[in-house]
Amino acid sequence: MAYKITLLPGDGIGPEVTEQAVLVLKAVSEKYGFNLEFNTALIGGIAIDETGSPLPNETVELCKNSDGVILGAVGGPKWDSLPGDQKPEKGLLGIRTALELFANLRPAIVHTPLRAASPLKDEILGDGLDIMIVRELTGGIYFGDRGREGDSAYDTERYSLAEVERIGRVAFELATKRGGNLCSVDKANVLESSRLWREVMIKLSSEYPAVNLSHMYVDNAAMQLVRAPRQFDVIVTSNIFGDILSDEASQITGSIGMLPSASLGAGKLGLYEPIHGSAPDIAGKGQANPIAAILSTAMMLRYSFNLPDAALSIESAVAKALESGMRTADIAENGAPSVSTAEMGRAIAEFV
Ligand code: NAD
Repeated sequence: MAYKITLLPGDGIGPEVTEQAVLVLKAVSEKYGFNLEFNTALIGGIAIDETGSPLPNETVELCKNSDGVILGAVGGPKWDSLPGDQKPEKGLLGIRTALELFANLRPAIVHTPLRAASPLKDEILGDGLDIMIVRELTGGIYFGDRGREGDSAYDTERYSLAEVERIGRVAFELATKRGGNLCSVDKANVLESSRLWREVMIKLSSEYPAVNLSHMYVDNAAMQLVRAPRQFDVIVTSNIFGDILSDEASQITGSIGMLPSASLGAGKLGLYEPIHGSAPDIAGKGQANPIAAILSTAMMLRYSFNLPDAALSIESAVAKALESGMRTADIAENGAPSVSTAEMGRAIAEFV
């Protein structure tokens, strides 16, 4: 049996980093003796150019019939003047919806050799910061009723009990496997939807006695992330709060080219992608850092294929490449020599 992987390289540096992710996946599959079957499909700007749609039906079908989906990035200046609903980014929102991916996992990890890249002081950062942010992805104010009435406009934050419960379970399960601490972030002092959110989290906590559940208001959480980030293990929060907090957390790690993400649904199928975009300024130059894409494949092995040892082997190989001093341009200290996208990918594959 082979795990079926759909590759959606997309635009800009997407194909460059995806190619390295595949190289590393092949190395790890040989090491652990499992089979992979790769199929490539169109998404984003390149899909618009070739088919007229940012998300062709064949792409959706291929993804639905696979065990895991790896996405590079979409978008770029070539398509910026298109109307909003025809832009490459529409493909990304479309595939998340089509696959019913309601949970977005964004780790914010500071790799010790790259500590200097973080804007936070050493004494705040400590050693090996590792936070997992779990963001609800398909509900809340981004999907609620919106409109205009006379000279006013409104958007609606609405969550059902079932929506909160399913994202809560993802977070409790993760906290069980990690440090056992879950912080639920809301605005329950003001918002009714947050009061429901908090009630559901408290109710769920009785099923996960090994997890220590705490609550924090979102304004305080924004502050605590830069004041004392080490207090966090897993954070669970709504769509809009998670959007903002996960970007804040990614910046405290200092390196956008290093951070992976996973979007999960009710089943095993997930979509795995670096958090960065298509980086048009460096596309085609062989300068992109492939580590975020490579670490996204480790998340796929862990969450979709349940192969934690293989996932760890990729993460250790990344750590070894960094410890050995290899740096792509984005993470090299000023003036220090750097390696290309392909050299970094090859080194990580060899360390695996
Ligand atoms: P970006 O993440 O593409 O780039 C921001 C900066 O970070 C650039 O200077 C870029 O060179 C650098 N960078 C990003 N990834 C890197 C990597 N792996 N290695 C080295 N440097 C890296 O964000 P942007 O410039 O705001 O957006 C560019 C395009 O990407 C836009 O069209 C945007 O809509 C799209 N975008 C797509 C996604 C996605 O596909 N998930 C996410 C964000 C932005």
